[in-house]
Amino acid sequence: MVDEKKIKREVLEHACLHPEAYFPVNTLKSKGFERYQCSKCNRFFWATKSSKVCGDPSCSGGFRFIGDSPAKKKLDYIEVWEQFAKIHKKLGYTPISRYPVVARWNPTVDFTIASIAAFQPFVVSGEIAPPANPLVIPQMCLRFSDIDNVGITGHCVAFVMMGETGFFTPEEYNVEKYMSDHLTWLHEGMGIPFNELTIHEDVWSGGGNLGPCMEFFSRGLEISNQVYMQYEITPSGELKDLNIKVLDMGQGQERAAWFTQGKASVYECIFPTVLKKMRERTGVEYDEAFMRKFTPLAPYLNVGEVTDMEAAWKHVASQLKMDVQALKDKLLPLAAQYAVAEHTRALLFAVHDGALPSNVGGMYNLRVILRRALGFIDKYGWKLSLPEICAWHAEYLKPIFPEVSENLDEVAEILEVERKKYIATMEKTRNMLPRLIEKKLSVQDLIKLYDSQGISPEMISDEAAKLGKHISIPDNFYALVAAQHEQKEQETATVREEALSIPGDIPGTKALYFEDYTKSSFDSKVVEIFGNTVLLEQTIFYPISGGQLADLGTLNGQKVIDVFKQGPHIVHVMSEKPKFHAGDVVHGEIDFDRRLQLAQHHTSTHIVNAAARKVLGLHVNQASAKKDVDKAHLDITHYENLTDEQLAKIEEESNKIVKQGIKTKLSFVPREQAEREFGMAIYQGGVAPGKLLRIVNIPGVDVEACGGTHLKNTMEAGRIKLIKASKVKDGIVRITFAAGRAAENILKQDKEILDKAAVLLKCNVHQVPARALELFETWKKARKAVQKKQPLPDLTLKSSEGFKGDLLAKTAEVLQTQPEFIIKTIERFLADLENWQSS
Ligand SMILES: [Zn+2]
Ligand SMILES: [Zn+2]
Repeated sequence: MVDEKKIKREVLEHACLHPEAYFPVNTLKSKGFERYQCSKCNRFFWATKSSKVCGDPSCSGGFRFIGDSPAKKKLDYIEVWEQFAKIHKKLGYTPISRYPVVARWNPTVDFTIASIAAFQPFVVSGEIAPPANPLVIPQMCLRFSDIDNVGITGHCVAFVMMGETGFFTPEEYNVEKYMSDHLTWLHEGMGIPFNELTIHEDVWSGGGNLGPCMEFFSRGLEISNQVYMQYEITPSGELKDLNIKVLDMGQGQERAAWFTQGKASVYECIFPTVLKKMRERTGVEYDEAFMRKFTPLAPYLNVGEVTDMEAAWKHVASQLKMDVQALKDKLLPLAAQYAVAEHTRALLFAVHDGALPSNVGGMYNLRVILRRALGFIDKYGWKLSLPEICAWHAEYLKPIFPEVSENLDEVAEILEVERKKYIATMEKTRNMLPRLIEKKLSVQDLIKLYDSQGISPEMISDEAAKLGKHISIPDNFYALVAAQHEQKEQETATVREEALSIPGDIPGTKALYFEDYTKSSFDSKVVEIFGNTVLLEQTIFYPISGGQLADLGTLNGQKVIDVFKQGPHIVHVMSEKPKFHAGDVVHGEIDFDRRLQLAQHHTSTHIVNAAARKVLGLHVNQASAKKDVDKAHLDITHYENLTDEQLAKIEEESNKIVKQGIKTKLSFVPREQAEREFGMAIYQGGVAPGKLLRIVNIPGVDVEACGGTHLKNTMEAGRIKLIKASKVKDGIVRITFAAGRAAENILKQDKEILDKAAVLLKCNVHQVPARALELFETWKKARKAVQKKQPLPDLTLKSSEGFKGDLLAKTAEVLQTQPEFIIKTIERFLADLENWQSS
């Protein structure tokens, strides 16, 4: 393993001796900066006037801009981005819109955590072109490592990282220009005089890349960080020049507003209108004079860095010459309000961009912040609702992020469902608490209670306090919970084992199944045979992938029983040792009925996904899918199970799309073009690598990057029948359905069941549900009578009420059984009635 930290240290040591080889020293010198070394931490830095210490708050004496900002411009939160975009546009950068906070295009992370993450991995690797170059972007990012600090220390879960970003060949790369551009922004845009800037030399590394960087400080606050990502760390630990060198400057929009305004609290600068409305509702007051004294002390209360939190509170209180309780009484309601405002803004972006709070993976973090916010609202008895606060945020942010105003109703509904779940858990568990607090609860117990039952440690400690008991909770509890979940997800990620060792010089297999799914035979030269497995030059056999089963068939009449993809090769598994040899030309045929059925199920998966989004809302995304022969299923992100009405509506919408006879467009498109034209929603089935994406476009309905075999026209799906919906895990609903002949079969079976039920119940099919219900009720009454040895009631069935809708589903519902057991159930009831009558 290469020790990235060690290499970074070595590069920094070298850079200290040869700054001109790493840093834009000419630009710095031309603007009057000179190089100094910090007498406290020994780092090298640049300033326009002689200084013994660097700009780090611990060396230079904390924040010194509060109430006294050196910035000549006072920018509010919105203006910061507007000015940033305007000035950079003049300097040749193109302002672009943010990417979603849900990083669907990046297989390694759930959320976008930095501005550069919008372009990882494929733009940074050079596989696809950036949307503009160079560019600036207001990238909303989500990070969950400091949840417990939000409200107190100035941390945020959601923050905008304004990026100055560029991707250049080594010849074009020009760090002197990037420094000059950034200084122009700081100087002209924010109005910071150069003599108020301290610029540190440092080295950044991450994800196998490395580069020098310059950190910009003013009055003890780190304002921005410009990274010159130029090297790749090879497996042997050498530095290799990247083919594409990257400019990656990230600056917090929140901090920029805070710094120029010089207010005591960063939160006051981020959402001023939202806080104002919250205060009108709650009466919580903001005391700027108090906050001015508190803010410099806030880092002492950082739960990630403090071991004894009570001691930290005592220290801060003594510095303020206050009693600890008085300090908490003054600060905590205000901090809680900041946290509610902050968490709600994070939820607004996450949910708008298609994430749902749940118990699963990274989405769990959303539930954590949602419950933390609701917990504060509850605790203080505030008349505030998260959807309403979302709307306030959306209104304020309209000049930069108009998109979050688009589906506020949907966001509101999702948050409301989550709130109800939260209340239900609280009520259910409140009864358990007295018993719980009798036990000695370990941290693991607390996490388990929170995870499995939603009982927060605050609830336990509050309840315990009422009984005069003290329960200690780790101050970084929520970070611990989040960490545990992330770990779990990583462990469950499985890696497919390579089945064959194929020599590197064997060329990849040409896939012939993309264009025309109706082609069912082909000829190909045999490249290699390993035991029962065959590699061909080209094939129409679809290898199992993307949730679609493999094609089966024959090669020269011998059976192919499995087909899978391994790297660039498509591997055919034969039922026996092939009778042909490497170099022969063989004739291949696939089982076309199976191929047709799988194609129908695959195209229908895209159709049902689009229909579900139309019926349920924009938050619906494909979580996974499987296309079998007799049926298929699609897992969608949705916050509760579907009602029969919703299911019927999705089926109706799906069949509308089928009947419209829309021609599908199947093509290979350069990745950047596909992303630009169709957006990040194309990654429904996950991210596929490569410069070219196979795009399956059902115009006006759905566009996805997908490698499956697809129909030429939606009409070819025949008919889509939704079989059922079930919640498979938190936030994920599975829709099981069938298309084509499989759907016909199910419909035929359904019709047979209904016909038979009608005969048994002596009515027409529309009357079956009501008759079945009458039978069930009569049976129950009769059984009671038999048990009590009373005379039997009238057993004749008279109901003639008709039903409109899914007759089978309704009948199954009234009989409280599954459709396949309807006949048996009716027969049993009828037999019982007959027995009772005759005995
Ligand atoms: Zn220092
Ligand atoms: Zn697909």
